[in-house]
Amino acid sequence: MADAEDRKGGDRKTTEVVYDGAAATPMANDLAAASGTGMAAPGENMTKSPSNVPSPEADGLGCHGGQAEMRAAAEKAGQSEILERYAVDYPKGPHDQPQSMCPAFGSLRVGLRMRRTATVLSGSACCVYGLSFVSHFYGARRTVGYVPFDSETLVTGKLFEDIREAVHKLADPEKYDAVIVTNLCVPTASGVPLRLLPKEINGVRIIGIDVPGFGVPTHAEAKDVLSGAMLRYARTEAELGPVQAPRGGPSQKPTVTLLGEMFPADPVGLGMMLEPLGLAAGPVVPTREWRELYAALDCAAVAALHPFYTASIREFQEAGRPIVGSAPVGHDGTAAWLDAIGEACGIARDCVDQTKNRFLPMIKGALANAPIKGRVTLSGYEGSELLVARLLLESGANVPYVGTACPKTPYSAADCEWLEARGVHVEYRASLEKDIAAVEEFRPDLAIGTTPVVQKAKEMAIPGLYFTNLISARPLFGVAGAGSLAQVVNAAIGNKARFDEMREFFDGVGHGDTAGLWEGVPADHSDFRRKELARAEKARKAADPKRVAESVV
Ligand code: SF4
Repeated sequence: MADAEDRKGGDRKTTEVVYDGAAATPMANDLAAASGTGMAAPGENMTKSPSNVPSPEADGLGCHGGQAEMRAAAEKAGQSEILERYAVDYPKGPHDQPQSMCPAFGSLRVGLRMRRTATVLSGSACCVYGLSFVSHFYGARRTVGYVPFDSETLVTGKLFEDIREAVHKLADPEKYDAVIVTNLCVPTASGVPLRLLPKEINGVRIIGIDVPGFGVPTHAEAKDVLSGAMLRYARTEAELGPVQAPRGGPSQKPTVTLLGEMFPADPVGLGMMLEPLGLAAGPVVPTREWRELYAALDCAAVAALHPFYTASIREFQEAGRPIVGSAPVGHDGTAAWLDAIGEACGIARDCVDQTKNRFLPMIKGALANAPIKGRVTLSGYEGSELLVARLLLESGANVPYVGTACPKTPYSAADCEWLEARGVHVEYRASLEKDIAAVEEFRPDLAIGTTPVVQKAKEMAIPGLYFTNLISARPLFGVAGAGSLAQVVNAAIGNKARFDEMREFFDGVGHGDTAGLWEGVPADHSDFRRKELARAEKARKAADPKRVAESVV
């Protein structure tokens, strides 16, 4: 799919690797392209769009500026309905906003991984810079489109006109099946009405979504925002008439759609377990191609392997598909999952029992051959934390705590119950503070977690493993999943002596304010910091939201 485009910059020739032709499309604010397009050039008067009367209070705010102000601005701008839906789909509490990356990264990544799909962001330049940086850091090799704004285009409604124009220019059916436009925090709070974009241009579907940090708590759930929006669109298309078949043709057997991103070998392993039931593994949602959405909807059942895809599940339920929660992890998880799939798909009891008799001894054997000895705390924001904890426990580890940034949903209820029955403390919507407190309380032999949790553990001379990079990048399900964690976990636990040695070596070099090299004894300035924090907090409380918003516009 990759095209190479040579560009000359002075006398230096550079090559930009691009995935598709999106970069060559002039955006609505492209000054060179602006002439003759009806766009306002700098200094020209911009007309106020009757369709967009945004709230100027949001301009200049961001995730640094206070969620309450953003939310108040969004409600004022007529976004209450979408915020209410997000509040139901992605419930907060006990902790309101898990500390993770900008949520929009989740939906951006889903769009960037789809074939023949263009993605366009609308938001503050700093947010778009961060999001495009992270997506390219993770190897997107795709163009991230951007429609910038300033106070004037935001206030007059010209931003919406710019987005509409950009979408019209991008919608080339030769190149794209879909164009996805995402409102980030400020355009969402300002009420930029993506719902008024045309639903389709020249056969290219236009999907507009709002992914504000003050409405969608985690990047995991933002994947669901986009997946749900695409499934809804595809479901409507399928209801209206014939749709494109999957690339390899329709499946000869009833399929089980796999909901949640997973290690590439996992769908293969799941397919092997479904085969004796007379079933086949269907597409993985989020899909890699638009036409897979139809195949995903055309299933016998949906396996909600990741439990937080609430909007997507709603679409499957609208299509009349049964949903099966939990996942085939370890012995007990696989046994329960095969039962549930058999029941959902109307498979004869005998057949299910035979399948269990075939796979469960293999899983038991794999777990026994790869034991894990030690106490492990676990936390993450991927949505698979409870499943990994189950696998660790069945491998022999002692797991006193598992924290997930994702919310409690019915689709992880069986995992939560199984874990709690074995004395594990399960914390939904876990905060960083909770995760770190667990490490301090349980003093594990290994802390699996997010970057700051692992950093804290290592400071305490406790070995740590990053959940996203090292645990999520392994098979989890069925026979391949059983025993797949032992090598990396045992190797990390075995490193304890090295951590002790390092701690001893660096003992006395200082910590926090006293870290580093000093000519004299470092002064303790923590009092000053405390006073400044107290002063800032007092000022924040004294200011009403409106004044805070105005002060940053
Ligand atoms: S879009 Fe993301 S980075 Fe930007 S203000 Fe919102 S949460 Fe923060």
